Amino acid sequence: MKKTLDWQIASIRDVKPETAKVKSFTLTLPDWMRHRAGQHYDIRLTAEDGYQAQRSYSIASEPEREGEVDITVERINDGEVSTYMHDVLMPGDRIEARGPIGGYFVWEATMTEPLLLIAGGSGIVPLMSMLRHRAAAGGKNPAALLYSSRNFADIIYYTELEKLRTANNGMQILHTLTRSHPVEWKGFARRIDADMLKEVAHPLGKSVQVYVCGPTLLVESVANTLVKLEIDAHQIRTERFGPTGG
Ligand SMILES: Cc1cc2nc3c(=O)[nH]c(=O)nc-3n(C[C@H](O)[C@H](O)[C@H](O)COP(=O)(O)OP(=O)(O)OC[C@H]3O[C@@H](n4cnc5c(N)ncnc54)[C@H](O)[C@@H]3O)c2cc1C
Repeated sequence: MKKTLDWQIASIRDVKPETAKVKSFTLTLPDWMRHRAGQHYDIRLTAEDGYQAQRSYSIASEPEREGEVDITVERINDGEVSTYMHDVLMPGDRIEARGPIGGYFVWEATMTEPLLLIAGGSGIVPLMSMLRHRAAAGGKNPAALLYSSRNFADIIYYTELEKLRTANNGMQILHTLTRSHPVEWKGFARRIDADMLKEVAHPLGKSVQVYVCGPTLLVESVANTLVKLEIDAHQIRTERFGPTGG
């Protein structure tokens, strides 16, 4: 029987640019297993001399899709694995993968409490799996996404998020832009702070379940502020993607 920690050879079925620095990859998996929204896959590269590099990538797609998963990768300029994926990988290529992995940072549509998702940059990826899962399962629980990006052009999945925002299914989608914003911009235009979190979290009530994902500094600052706003720490799940600030 296949175990999630066994490596398998995935085929790249599709590569889709999301922004100038972000691409989504559709991986067809011979030993596909249904994931839970929020889980990730490990990807392993092996050079001709046997040197190996391995990184984790969250699943972006919904668990309802069978046989394949999407991952979405930001190109880190001096990065080993993300540059290879961006610059070399093409449809038809094969790559080692194992998963789905992780049991803590997961959300299922059977959880009916109000939901608050907070993302910085590529931290949107596992939250997108949750949003797609909620849409596929017809979820109606009150929910909000607060998504911080540097500039408008850096917002990942913007068009799909707009569709979810206007679908009238209890989902609020709020953006903040921290570096520059279009003249007509109606969203927030600063780093996530206590006032912003209060505005977004309070209407969702005391039982809100919170998922925070992104650069380490953003995740820590948001989680600490939420606790100060008297959201129980047990209701806040965090995932840190990298060592740098947003
Ligand atoms: C559970 C989990 C899920 C993840 N999911 C995703 C995902 O869905 N999409 C995604 O793009 N990444 C994701 N990451 C981050 C990913 O695993 C890699 O760390 C990232 O792609 C950089 O790898 P690299 O080999 O290109 O860079 P490396 O060679 O590891 O690092 C190069 C340089 O970049 C810095 N760096 C490393 N990671 C980051 C980062 N995230 N942001 C900024 N600087 C960094 C390093 O300190 C170093 O200076 C996830 C991480 C974890 C732990």
